[in-house]
Amino acid sequence: MLRIAIDGPGGAGKSSLAKAVAKELGIIYVDTGALYRSIGKYMLDNGVKDTKSRDEVLARLPEVKLQMRFEDGRQIILLNGEDVGDSIRTPEVSMAASNVSAIAEVRAFLLDTQRKIAEQCDLIMDGRDIGTVILPCAEVKIFLTARPEARAKRRHLELMAKGSTITYEQVLAEMNERDNNDTTREIAPCIPADDAIFLDNSDLTAEQTVDEVLKIVREVMKKRSKRGSGLYMFLRAIVSPVYRFFARVRVVGKENIPKDGGALLCCNHIGVNDIFMLGTVYPRQLRFLSKKEWFSVPVLRGLFKALGAVELDRGGKDVGALKSAIKLIKQGQTVVIFPQGHRYPGVNPASTPIKSGGALIAHRAMCEVIPVCIKTKGEKYRIFRKRYIIFGKPIKYSELGFENGGREEYMRAMNKVFDNICSLGGYKVELPEAPCDESENKP
Ligand code: C5P
Repeated sequence: MLRIAIDGPGGAGKSSLAKAVAKELGIIYVDTGALYRSIGKYMLDNGVKDTKSRDEVLARLPEVKLQMRFEDGRQIILLNGEDVGDSIRTPEVSMAASNVSAIAEVRAFLLDTQRKIAEQCDLIMDGRDIGTVILPCAEVKIFLTARPEARAKRRHLELMAKGSTITYEQVLAEMNERDNNDTTREIAPCIPADDAIFLDNSDLTAEQTVDEVLKIVREVMKKRSKRGSGLYMFLRAIVSPVYRFFARVRVVGKENIPKDGGALLCCNHIGVNDIFMLGTVYPRQLRFLSKKEWFSVPVLRGLFKALGAVELDRGGKDVGALKSAIKLIKQGQTVVIFPQGHRYPGVNPASTPIKSGGALIAHRAMCEVIPVCIKTKGEKYRIFRKRYIIFGKPIKYSELGFENGGREEYMRAMNKVFDNICSLGGYKVELPEAPCDESENKP
């Protein structure tokens, strides 16, 4: 997946930039400001006197129904069934949008709409909090800005072209007020994400800005398409034929493997071979959490590091390893975990206990989860015995049912993932046999 997040203050040229980049890359452009503008407009049109007043706005919010559609790549917003068109592009609506956007419930109201669309297709999305809140795992994040005077000049020209008589000074004053609102509000302020690329286009033309951003996107895409470290790919090339021949590894559901983007791969655990077998069939480098003890052996330490393993202290809550896993996924990598925590050779996985840590990773990284089942006849590895690696359809982030996080939610999500893994292999929970009541058989 390719998700490009463009954040920055008004007048920096985000929307023209995003439109041009979307056209060049053949992806859709989502203008999130239009959603806030539509709510602002509804409030103005429906007698809300102070769009800063939380009570007034929230009283009318349930009446708002917003739908987003795309026609020939053009975004259309339907406000209670009617296309808002250009009616949301006035200075009054701009200010109302800025005011309502500072209200937490309004932001929550629009959260799903924005995230859902990003799950469906490659896109470029612009706004104020795309890289920080809406799509924290976007593959490319750009914070686009320019000096206030340059931004006000552009906006003034734009408005004059539409026949407005507003003065440059008025536009600059309005822009400064909106900037102040947007950057100082408590929730989702307009600030660059830690991993965003900062681009000041005060002295660039619109075309130069587009070229600059396309250069950044292409660079990121090139890096992502690199399949893995040299050593990893070299060892993989040696080990793969060995596994294919001696272990007769067969892959099912290859089409379910995502082509790119960060993900958490969850698999049942039969033996030490699992990680190697997965590595030989997965098209990109897999990152795995490996117990600390392996890292204390000097030769293995170097090897494991070169292979991209993350050191895990299984004794306690290893916050460092979890953070590393989350970061790797956000960078577009696939991290493997075995929810069972231990190997269970010869045991029906549906009857084993599981741990919820993987769900915490998926929640924080906001990623999809790839369920994988390893199955071998007889359940124990034997040479020349066929073994299957079955890839299931990735489970989307929104299907994992996260709301606020927490142990219960994580356990529920992990159970869902693990049920999926078990059903890929046709494993069912084995219920203990009901004790037989002998009195029933007595005459
Ligand atoms: O981008 P645009 O100028 O159309 O946005 C209008 C207003 O909506 C902004 O001033 C900002 O307050 C709000 N907004 C937001 N978060 C977004 C997009 C827009 O708060 N993601």
